[in-house]
Amino acid sequence: MQDMNALIDNLLERHHDKLNTRAILIERNAIENAYPAMKANLTPGKWLVAVDDNTWRVAGERLAAVLDENGQEWERYDVVGHEGEKYPMCDDERIAEYQQALVDSGASAGVAVGSGTINDIVKLAAYNVEKPMACICTAPSMNGYTSGIAAVLSDGVKTTVPCVAPTVVVADLDVMAESPQRMVQSGLGDLLSKPVSNSDWQMSAILNGTFHSAEAMEIIEAGSKMLDGVAPKLPEQDREAVAGLTGSLMLSGLAMSVAGSSSPASGGEHLISHYIDMTAHSFDLPFDFHGCQVGVGTLTSAHIYERLQALDPSTIDIDALTNNLMSWDDYSKVLEERFGILYKAVAKHAELAYPTPEVYRARLTKLVAQWDEVIAAIRQTLRTRQSIEDELRAANCPVRYSELGVDGHRALAAITWSKDIRNRYTILHLAWELGHLEEWAEEALDILY
Ligand SMILES: [Zn+2]
Repeated sequence: MQDMNALIDNLLERHHDKLNTRAILIERNAIENAYPAMKANLTPGKWLVAVDDNTWRVAGERLAAVLDENGQEWERYDVVGHEGEKYPMCDDERIAEYQQALVDSGASAGVAVGSGTINDIVKLAAYNVEKPMACICTAPSMNGYTSGIAAVLSDGVKTTVPCVAPTVVVADLDVMAESPQRMVQSGLGDLLSKPVSNSDWQMSAILNGTFHSAEAMEIIEAGSKMLDGVAPKLPEQDREAVAGLTGSLMLSGLAMSVAGSSSPASGGEHLISHYIDMTAHSFDLPFDFHGCQVGVGTLTSAHIYERLQALDPSTIDIDALTNNLMSWDDYSKVLEERFGILYKAVAKHAELAYPTPEVYRARLTKLVAQWDEVIAAIRQTLRTRQSIEDELRAANCPVRYSELGVDGHRALAAITWSKDIRNRYTILHLAWELGHLEEWAEEALDILY
């Protein structure tokens, strides 16, 4: 564990100019030990501490005692679910409310006590009013603690918005280990997306010339090593294993900060999860934790990559495919039917990603010409669907859509339609452009429903 903390401190130092995070504490009693780092990195004055009932109970109360002991001025802010909502979300409204509270209370800094939702609300609101913030983590459930982006439900569409990462991140190992098992499983699921999200990232770099960062890749690899042997020990709340998971999540977030984009850790598998979130929110349908959905999305992407690798590139009929490309106008009508009330918000992302015939032809031509290079690049990080599934199962993570409460129809839509909710080229886009997405998705569901 000491090695891990030294490695993280070293990374913070080395990438000082690209990172906003100045201190990451991962240890037992981290909350009791956090004040010096918070004091050194947050602006003096009153700190507005965002909690909900649950995070107050598991970590907020302890933090409050520490702040009081040190004579630190602070005020409690409760993030509450709106009427008819089962759980609070990080949406435009919630961000605006906390932002207003920061202003009204005269606070000099924000503090989030929570996991994804509360951290993202505070992160984005504090960024909007140019105040620093710290995060006291309550579950190793996702990799966003150290990232400079927030996942926001904006106009009903799940998007990531650039902001600034917390200055100080505090992960108390007892709090993390004793968090709900489903949240621990979610963290592992989020991290195990790496084999496919990195493949998407590399593949797009070759086909589209999009940005790829070797530095970010190195950080992700280091994080990935921290996961060795961790999965089977998570169900028993083993502190070393939880430390490995937490450290790996922190590194994944730092990699996104260094790359200046979520690309290193978010490809097609994340789109599948975002689609489930969006439809859950808009149509009151079941959903699961982010990383649990990402885990099943990852198995789906891994299956599609297996099919891609088995494809004979000489069977790709570039002329026929290009001639059959729907115009954007026609395609937007399809989207209107698919997305209903979400159509307008989706279309603005979809249009940016939708290829012109020239772009489409050029990409397919490049794919065929550089087939071996593309396959070699994706294989650098790719793992088989079965090996990822075995690791997820070892930690009791959900591995089937039915375990997420997502029915077959919605699962198929998530796989085949989600590519239109974000402008980032992934394996889902590639499979669609090859005319195989529907077929490969149905096959994946034969295994993964
Ligand atoms: Zn994620």
